[in-house]
Amino acid sequence: MSFTNLGLSEPLLKAIKEQGYTVPTPIQQQAIPVVIQKKDILAAAQTGTGKTAGFTLPLLERLYQNKPNMNKYQIRALVLTPTRELAAQVAQSIKVYGKYTPYTSAVVFGGVGISPQLAAIRKGVDIVIATPGRLLDIVGQKGIDFSKLECLILDEADRMLDMGFINDIKKLMKLMPQKRQTLLFSATFSPEIKALASGLLNDPVLVEVARENTTADQISQVVHFVDKMRKKELLSQLIKTKNWKQVLVFTRTKHGANRLTSQLEDSGILAAAIHGNKSQGARTKALADFKDKKIRVLVATDIAARGIDIDQLPHVVNYELPNVPEDYVHRIGRTGRAGKEGEAVSLVCIDEHKLLADIEKFIKSSIKKVEIPAFVPDPNIKAEPIQNGRGGGRSGNQRGSARNTGNSTGASSQRSRSSRSPSATNNTGIRQKQR
Ligand code: AMP
Repeated sequence: MSFTNLGLSEPLLKAIKEQGYTVPTPIQQQAIPVVIQKKDILAAAQTGTGKTAGFTLPLLERLYQNKPNMNKYQIRALVLTPTRELAAQVAQSIKVYGKYTPYTSAVVFGGVGISPQLAAIRKGVDIVIATPGRLLDIVGQKGIDFSKLECLILDEADRMLDMGFINDIKKLMKLMPQKRQTLLFSATFSPEIKALASGLLNDPVLVEVARENTTADQISQVVHFVDKMRKKELLSQLIKTKNWKQVLVFTRTKHGANRLTSQLEDSGILAAAIHGNKSQGARTKALADFKDKKIRVLVATDIAARGIDIDQLPHVVNYELPNVPEDYVHRIGRTGRAGKEGEAVSLVCIDEHKLLADIEKFIKSSIKKVEIPAFVPDPNIKAEPIQNGRGGGRSGNQRGSARNTGNSTGASSQRSRSSRSPSATNNTGIRQKQR
């Protein structure tokens, strides 16, 4: 199977070739012809499967069948994403794949000024990529018109629901024409996703390329048991002795991410933190420095798990296990992308044994345990309840602050799901709404 068999036009094939892609990934093979035929899709695809090209390429092909948009405010396609990082990445993909087409796009998300975004749409664009909260702000300022919308794409829809965007999505939906194509991409098919899909999609084609709740086969996973107080020492040692050049490290809280970043820097390892309390500028810079290999370690909360796309990211470390087993899959999905090999290392202390058991149950397999002799846990240390970082500064779940950040923080998004997860240690029972 090659890209030429999928019904894509020459300008797109040229851009694909420039990217060095020779064979379409399974999701691309399945989704591209269906999208070109203007059918609705309900797609379950793991991260790293090539799903972004799976919808951007046929979207561009579909638009290619008509002239570019010359009407101000009226857009032809909309991609909704849960986070600004993902919005920026989808926008970048559209630019890359659409390089030889005349179509224009604009990306809008919170945390940065709205005026340039309004101005970009006002110029007349074909495609808008947006996070729901900011898009509603733009609607409120009459800065966009959906009456000519041909195609709506919901990317990482499960994450949008987890982050409390459902009402925003419903409000936006009311403004869109009934007759349109809708594509819904989600990592999992939860009952909530099925309910959303049944209200939005019209006779959708089901596309599922990975088994549900399993981790990508090409990622090797390992657990090292270690005492909580010695995790930073073990992490520094692993980075140095294994000579890891580019490591994405996950912590459970923003405060923990900041603290670990300073500790790594103190031990001579260049690192930066990325999480919801960082300004957009700081987040963009940290990601750019990491991609350019100016820093060796990027320490992230779960929000970054869905937004970061780095080719050939070789190592992911769970410095702390996530509260929600599904987040483990999303986190380690940052490595081993599109057929490349990756390694996911989890540092697990006595407090986290229950979380580990929940994760293994969720992924339906046991993760290999490797003892590091110098770091064998002290048997006298007793398990303590997991701290979820509520003391770690503003949680970002107040409406105002969450609105400003344009999306949720890692910690607060965990909380919103913890309340529904039978395995979660945090049982506030309150579902937080945020933008
Ligand atoms: P995604 O799942 O959309 O985040 O894509 C994961 C990674 O796979 C990205 O870095 C893409 O550039 C890359 N990719 C997408 N399609 C292909 C393909 N057909 N061949 C090789 N790499 C690809």
